[in-house]
Amino acid sequence: MQIFIAKDSGFCEGVSAAFGQAKKYHDIFMLGNLVHNRQVVEKLGEQGIKVIKDIKDIKDGETLLISAHGVAPYIYEEAKKKHLKIIDTTCSWVKRAQKLAKEVIEKGYQLIIIGDKNHPEVKGIKGWSNDKGIVISSEKEGEDIYSRLRNKVGVVAQTTQSDENFNSIVSFLQSKVKDLIVHKTICGATQKRQKAAIDLARKVDVMLIIGDRMSANTKRLTELCAKTGTPAHQIQTKAELKPQFLSGKDKIGITAGASTPDWVIEEVVKILKN
Ligand code: SF4
Repeated sequence: MQIFIAKDSGFCEGVSAAFGQAKKYHDIFMLGNLVHNRQVVEKLGEQGIKVIKDIKDIKDGETLLISAHGVAPYIYEEAKKKHLKIIDTTCSWVKRAQKLAKEVIEKGYQLIIIGDKNHPEVKGIKGWSNDKGIVISSEKEGEDIYSRLRNKVGVVAQTTQSDENFNSIVSFLQSKVKDLIVHKTICGATQKRQKAAIDLARKVDVMLIIGDRMSANTKRLTELCAKTGTPAHQIQTKAELKPQFLSGKDKIGITAGASTPDWVIEEVVKILKN
């Protein structure tokens, strides 16, 4: 059996920076998960970083860590009122998407956000548009809403969208909207990971995609690998590795989501080698 690991996989620069920051602190509060990975959140929990779901759940004067996914502006306003100390690990790519969403609205354009409406990053970006952005995740959803669109529309994307989905929605909007501004805010790390995963999937007999099921970018990697026709299995940890995934396969390809830590990838590789 031969094992190949995708050139770009695992922790991206944004997650590495957020995790590196968070590791310096103890007994503080984190609004939502730092990243969508259970092992990372558990590790931070061991050093006393508690996850809260709502800013109301933190007492005045405490320390609040903002995740790599970013938050809406009202969180900063609330934090100020409560005299919280803020540790902001919002990824710079997410900040760029937030800034562009705000700009689109300020220019008097209607905003479309291409992404998953329940994802914290998308909720944050929408917040920067004064909640005026319309979130769609597919061309079909674009067809459902286009009759409500004005002539001036601006587009931004969740940073972890696939190129393919983004391009198909944008092509559809271009055919319907007179004045369309397109901000392709998919981050560089996502693009590199997606390309490396597709390239590898085309060369191997099976792909294993390691990452939490909450992770949007890991889910996208699995979908893209599967589209190449190579069997693709997403596993969260070594515990989900099944013998039938590997039965009759010689070349095993591995990739991992941007929020999957090295130690989880290494455990899977070790089991495969053994
Ligand atoms: S996936 Fe991209 S946007 Fe998200 S944290 Fe990593 S670098 Fe930043």
